[in-house]
Amino acid sequence: MAAPTSVVATPIPPNEQHISNQPFTLHNWYKKINWLNTTLVILIPAYGLYLTRHTPLTRPTLLWSILYYFMTAFGITGGYHRLWSHRCYSARFPLRLFLAFTGAGAIQGSIRWWSSGHRAHHRWTDTARDPYSAMRGIFFSHLGWMVFKEDPKLKGRTDISDLDSDPIVVFQHKHYGMCLLFAAWIFPMLVAGIGWGDWWGGLVYAGLVRGCLVQQATFCVNSLAHWIGEQPFDDRRTPRDHLLTALVTMGEGYHNFHHEFPSDYRNAIQWYQYDPTKWLIYLLSALPLFPQTSDLKTFRSNEIEKGRLQQQQKAIDAKRSSLDWGSPLSQLPVLSWDEFLRQASGDGAALVLIAGVIHNIGAFVAEHPGGKALIKSVVGKDATALFNGGVYEHSNAAHNLLSTMRVGVLRGGQEVEVWKKNGAGNRLAKDVKGQAVIRAGEQIMRVGAPMNAAVVA
Ligand SMILES: [Zn+2]
Ligand SMILES: [Zn+2]
Repeated sequence: MAAPTSVVATPIPPNEQHISNQPFTLHNWYKKINWLNTTLVILIPAYGLYLTRHTPLTRPTLLWSILYYFMTAFGITGGYHRLWSHRCYSARFPLRLFLAFTGAGAIQGSIRWWSSGHRAHHRWTDTARDPYSAMRGIFFSHLGWMVFKEDPKLKGRTDISDLDSDPIVVFQHKHYGMCLLFAAWIFPMLVAGIGWGDWWGGLVYAGLVRGCLVQQATFCVNSLAHWIGEQPFDDRRTPRDHLLTALVTMGEGYHNFHHEFPSDYRNAIQWYQYDPTKWLIYLLSALPLFPQTSDLKTFRSNEIEKGRLQQQQKAIDAKRSSLDWGSPLSQLPVLSWDEFLRQASGDGAALVLIAGVIHNIGAFVAEHPGGKALIKSVVGKDATALFNGGVYEHSNAAHNLLSTMRVGVLRGGQEVEVWKKNGAGNRLAKDVKGQAVIRAGEQIMRVGAPMNAAVVA
């Protein structure tokens, strides 16, 4: 007879778990490190920086290094990111070839590997499935995710079938080692060597040091752009907009916008914001005779502005809920006219009825700008008309202040009927926190249009 199968999953013993889940020890630390990545993003760049101590930097090599820095950075921002990961625009074959070449020169993996991870980052931002989740700390999102081995079961799966139909992407992935070697180090050395005889300087500065800088700059999109800046479109997750990140990353710093509208070819939507990647994509579409880009996607400004407005509304709601607007009418006790008269004065109370709402103005009498006598004379009375222009058309601030003094509602009070009829329900629109939205000039105690001066007189 077959042994019954257990329905309870047997826990995996600690030493059989994936290396990333085992604790650090003196005997296993080196197994936790992804040595290929560590060599490419830490050891080689560090060696390149060390070599600068003994390598003179000539002017043409400096200029070439800067130019090649921007070319390879654009390979990532314009190519790997906006073209292949997000399909923000279409590019002709020559430009795709250029981007695949310069992108390989930025030493950040193949287009296929990079885009798959980046799509997972967008789909599962800040969760365990996000390969460079900002929730795991700034070091992890910047470098740690490449340096340490990760349980492959953890990373979210994404669809990259569209990339497999691009022969350039497939070729670059298949021969990535050769592409990297040539584009990152040999090509910049050849240019400097054949161009002006500076072979070694070309390798050190335009190859190794430039590669290090372009890596660190692009990694800032995963670290810095999830740490510093504003969140004008959504603040439920970590992406942020900041000029500093944009300056470092060829315009990828408007990351809050980007996570909300990832298929928009722009990251910065204002003309004065720094987004050279957007400018280049646009310029390439406007080339006479041979435009290299087309189908530049943008979200409708109507959608963008809705997101921005909702975020502003959220900030306003938060501010509103921090202010004292007086007790909500629904929570106030209901008093009969006789009870109102009985409690109107004495024991520090000075009750006055305005528009069916009972207010205790006891503590305010001495501060009343219109004088003590006038305000005292309305205690125990209905001052609706007097407050609303009969004697003085009180300001919006006065209405707001009066709201904070309310202590009850009059049962069957005529004025209560008035505000009910005037659509007080509509006035009490609720914000997302369930708080009544009291707009200027719409306080519940405000009854009818202000009387004009002639009538008052
Ligand atoms: Zn991001
Ligand atoms: Zn993206």
